[in-house]
Amino acid sequence: MANLQRLAIAPHQIEGQKVHLNLEQQHYLSRVLRLGEGDQFIVMDGQGNSWLAKLEAEETSKKSTVNAILEKEIFIQNELPIDLILISALPKGNNFDQIVRQSTELGVTHILPVISSRTLLKPSPQKLQRWQKIACEAAEQSERQVVPIIRETMEYSAALSLFDGQTLSNYDKYTCVARNDYPSLLENLLDNQLPESIVIMTGPEGGWTNVEIEAAIATGFQAVSLGKRILRAVTAPLVALSLVAAVLEKRKV
Ligand code: SAH
Repeated sequence: MANLQRLAIAPHQIEGQKVHLNLEQQHYLSRVLRLGEGDQFIVMDGQGNSWLAKLEAEETSKKSTVNAILEKEIFIQNELPIDLILISALPKGNNFDQIVRQSTELGVTHILPVISSRTLLKPSPQKLQRWQKIACEAAEQSERQVVPIIRETMEYSAALSLFDGQTLSNYDKYTCVARNDYPSLLENLLDNQLPESIVIMTGPEGGWTNVEIEAAIATGFQAVSLGKRILRAVTAPLVALSLVAAVLEKRKV
């Protein structure tokens, strides 16, 4: 089963044992992967469920389509034990694509793109769809069962207000700040009990303003360091998420 191809679908595409594949998915399976009638692959619904499936060709007088037929549910668990949420200020150009792809590989469950004071870019509305597609492909490739949810781009203050409040008291929230003497993220992770969720926040190329750092701290975020070197805006989230994943998996929860 290890080397079977994976396809992420939306739960609403399933009807009984049959998965109604869209044109892009049909093209991917038949033309890109060159699977034929009866060939097996793994279908995942992005919400934790996976099935062994086989390709079925359906010919009508008007058109030929391919469907997936679910053969049996399979139980794979490659996910981290808790939700891992990344709040990232949008970097320049297409650099957020890389953040989405690689943070998906590292196990993130939610990604919140934010516009901060020093964000240079206002994304076009089509970006969200593109990022969701990248997350989907990265989840397939890294054999995850969950496709991260990417939120619409929001203002920094709106993102902070989502994580304010008593109900989230069991969330560990960290804001990464370069050039400072804050305690390291790793030390914090090792010292703390397993929380319900971990939230990591990283800034844009120009960094956070002092006002933004103070606002985060007032919302219950802990300012942390990722080391003495200054990491690029695309590197910082990956370093932070790698540390979280390593510590969570060491606990073997
Ligand atoms: N231009 C800024 C650095 C921005 S780096 C400066 O010179 O100070 C982009 C983001 O990556 C920062 O906002 C921070 O969230 C994160 N980051 C980079 N290096 C870091 C480090 N050593 N420790 C913690 N966070 C870091």
